[in-house]
Amino acid sequence: MSIQTIGIIGAGTMGNGIAQACSAAGLQAVLQDVSEPALARALKTISGSLDRAVRKGTLTEEAKAAVLGRIRTTTAAQDLAEADLVIEAATENEAIKIRILQAVDAIARPGTIIATNTSSISITRLAAATQRPDRFVGMHFFNPVPVMALVEIIRGLRTSEATVEAVADLARTLGKTPIGVKNSAGFVVNRILCPMINEAIFTLQEGLASAEEIDAGMRLGCNHPIGPLALCDLVGLDVQLAVMDVLYSNFNDSKYRPAPLLREMVDAGMLGRKTGRGFYTYEK
Ligand code: NAD
Repeated sequence: MSIQTIGIIGAGTMGNGIAQACSAAGLQAVLQDVSEPALARALKTISGSLDRAVRKGTLTEEAKAAVLGRIRTTTAAQDLAEADLVIEAATENEAIKIRILQAVDAIARPGTIIATNTSSISITRLAAATQRPDRFVGMHFFNPVPVMALVEIIRGLRTSEATVEAVADLARTLGKTPIGVKNSAGFVVNRILCPMINEAIFTLQEGLASAEEIDAGMRLGCNHPIGPLALCDLVGLDVQLAVMDVLYSNFNDSKYRPAPLLREMVDAGMLGRKTGRGFYTYEK
């Protein structure tokens, strides 16, 4: 089946980026959210991102209008019935996602694939909430979606190979590189990245070096574009802690225990860039 129309549920940080990427690739995007203001903000964000491309000379005004023209926003879940594939990118809360997925399962055509962009909830468990676990898959995009080249394609226990192939093809259509991953907490990238950041926090807590020195070590010694502590400030210390808690509780392995300093800083409201203070201090 040719995939022409993508339904996207949730118009937040990820949903608006996914809608932009789909539309920029020539597909129709139906962007659905329960919140009118979220939809308005999403269109503003997409328009701002396209304006930057116009200013840089990488996009014409006509192309910008065409991209915006292929994105339809709606608060009506029923409008997702016309989608050839649906990507759920709503709030990271299992109960909310299960309600959304059961509703879209009842609305979407029987052959339609449903994908979820969840960062931490089991794909197998979300799939089991639908009547189509073979046509259910994880499609984990990275932030900001229009810029980041990777999509993790996560197979739940009952996801079919045809479903994996179809979403990998879609990722390539969007100009992304897909990697296939079995369902497991943190998938691949966060499973590697977050413990690395956590270890950097342990080295700081143990006084092995200053934050600047730890970051310089990983930038200059490993060619990382940004040090782990500066990256943690960017992602948010609360988000880093949530991922470590998920890894720790899923694997019951002490190697994933969150650094006590991380928890202490989250308790103090030092969440990184978003609060102006984390491992570094930021001007508001
Ligand atoms: P967000 O909070 O920015 O946006 C979530 C949106 O979902 C909101 O606009 C909200 O109104 C909407 N929503 C809530 N309930 C809804 C419903 N019943 N129907 C339709 N829309 C509903 O969240 P986000 O950062 O865009 O994250 C979305 C998903 O993507 C999460 O599962 C998250 O784990 C995942 N993710 C996030 C990132 C990131 O860096 N932010 C990266 C990869 C994956």
